[in-house]
Amino acid sequence: MRRIGLLGGMSWESSAEYYRLLNELVREREGGLHSADCVLLSVDFAEIEVLQSQGRWDEAGELLAEAALQLQAAGAQVVVLCTNTMHKVADAIESVLAVPFLHLADATAQAAVTAGLTKVGLLGTAFTMEQDFYRDRLAGHGLDVVVPNDDDRALVHRVIYDELCLGIVTDQSRQAYVEVIGRLVEAGCEGVILGCTEIELLVRPSDSPVPLLATTRLHAEAAVAFALG
Ligand code: GLU
Repeated sequence: MRRIGLLGGMSWESSAEYYRLLNELVREREGGLHSADCVLLSVDFAEIEVLQSQGRWDEAGELLAEAALQLQAAGAQVVVLCTNTMHKVADAIESVLAVPFLHLADATAQAAVTAGLTKVGLLGTAFTMEQDFYRDRLAGHGLDVVVPNDDDRALVHRVIYDELCLGIVTDQSRQAYVEVIGRLVEAGCEGVILGCTEIELLVRPSDSPVPLLATTRLHAEAAVAFALG
């Protein structure tokens, strides 16, 4: 089994999910007492959030590239960046590594294509929904990506930072997300990407009339497939 390096803490609420999923998936595949061989480097999200909100992406890239090198030095044979948003600096991380970097948007897009979806909605932080880095990567797999309207994007973003990254999960926000998903479906989306690693803590497949692509699970599945070969 290859060692998986998790670059997490963004936020730790979803990194904990990654850890649980990696171990569950390895146990499902290998049985018995088998569990994932992994190392986790978890950053202080408050430092990252300041860099995000001030647009200091180069500094964020340097910080995460250094962290990824520490994972590699700890024996990681693949690096998994446990956040969609920070894939904005994926190139800065990937360029310093000798081991593979498993891009979250690729794992997600491949699942969407395999499911036969072409037009998909995208929920995530404002950075993920509004900037090119993530949508273009999805579009490169042939997907037609739709984002919510201005008000809905603001709501989705606010719930991520003010609630989900703080471990706050409420019925009220779940209902608000269900309504946002409903409007994406009305706009013709055949599936919706939960493009923030905390959203699947709030929204479940049964909350949606169309398939949901849960990025934390899909990324963990890709990591385990790589680790077990
Ligand atoms: N975990 C989130 C994501 O997948 C948001 C937190 C962050 O900005 O990294 O985008």
